[in-house]
Amino acid sequence: MVFVSKIYLPDKEKYKSYIDKIYESGWVTNNGPLVQELEKRLEEHLGVKNLLCVANGTIALQIAYMLLELEGEVITTPFTFVSTTGSIAAEKLTPVFSDIDAKSYNLDPAKIESAVTGKTSAIVPCHVFGNACEIDEIDEIAHKHNLKVIYDASHAFGVTYKGKSILSYGDVSAISFHGTKFFHTVEGAALVIKDDALYEKAKVIRNYGSDAPDSVSMVGINGKMNELEAAMGLCVLDEVDTILAQRRNSHEYYAEQLKDYIQMQSFNKDASQSYSYFSIVLRSEEEMAAVRAALIAQDISPRQYFKPSLDTVPYVEERQVMEVARDIASRILVIPIHSDVEPTVAKIVIETLQKMRG
Ligand SMILES: *Cc1c(COP(=O)(O)O)cnc(C)c1O
Repeated sequence: MVFVSKIYLPDKEKYKSYIDKIYESGWVTNNGPLVQELEKRLEEHLGVKNLLCVANGTIALQIAYMLLELEGEVITTPFTFVSTTGSIAAEKLTPVFSDIDAKSYNLDPAKIESAVTGKTSAIVPCHVFGNACEIDEIDEIAHKHNLKVIYDASHAFGVTYKGKSILSYGDVSAISFHGTKFFHTVEGAALVIKDDALYEKAKVIRNYGSDAPDSVSMVGINGKMNELEAAMGLCVLDEVDTILAQRRNSHEYYAEQLKDYIQMQSFNKDASQSYSYFSIVLRSEEEMAAVRAALIAQDISPRQYFKPSLDTVPYVEERQVMEVARDIASRILVIPIHSDVEPTVAKIVIETLQKMRG
């Protein structure tokens, strides 16, 4: 079976040489030298400051909310991985949804303001499939209502917006380095924090709220990345340019082959892309199901990202039906973009649609 994401394993000898170093030093976790080296190299590679590696993307988001002392309601998107909403609820905040734009699949800035109430403390948008949000408009709304902005940038490794790293926008940006992501550390993530004092505070939160041995200054969590994960990241980072070039080729191939048959995501003109996902939106749920079945019958496993629309999960209060998100969620498929199956996948999609549409 060919899956949507395939873990990228770097050169084994290189990884072993890092493991040898870990065996020599005996330092396996607790802000070790490899984590520190990875943080420095990521800051250089991405052109950002105040980057902090943490245990995973979900904890990265939770640390961001703790750091900014959010309260009450948080406006977010129903069309993202469940962890964006789950992290909000886990911190005892109330997720309030605002619908997405039918073409970009990101929060529709024109709808955000109507979700603001006296209890709103932040906006948590996601750059879906690496497509940059309407950052300037979101910033303007946040400024007007005195809200914090935390971007879930998990799909946007290496993306730039108006010439700057996308991670430098918002009060905090969080990015997952899970094994299925474009750049990964097996499990892991990073926070990029605008304010220098908050960056120092985030280090304390990541370390159980302990600011020095035998001293506790605030509520914290165990958010640490370990040395084996950092070693994986250092190896994968050496190869990201190659991975990006391959993905871009596949992305362009799909776009060219499928453009007459399916709706494609429209990407922000002010931003670059990560080419990490290729989504197709079919005309109906029936068409989507037919394409999905045809692919599965040939051992290719697409994913219905992101289903369910998160306004339907059991732990959120229903205020308003997110019609656009539910509609897109019912018709979308993300197809593999990492291997040599692209011509086969495109062919099956086209043949299935020709049969159905006559
Ligand atoms: C992967 C992902 C996460 C969660 O990251 P983990 O490292 O798996 O906890 C959060 N948001 C989005 C959009 C993701 O794709």
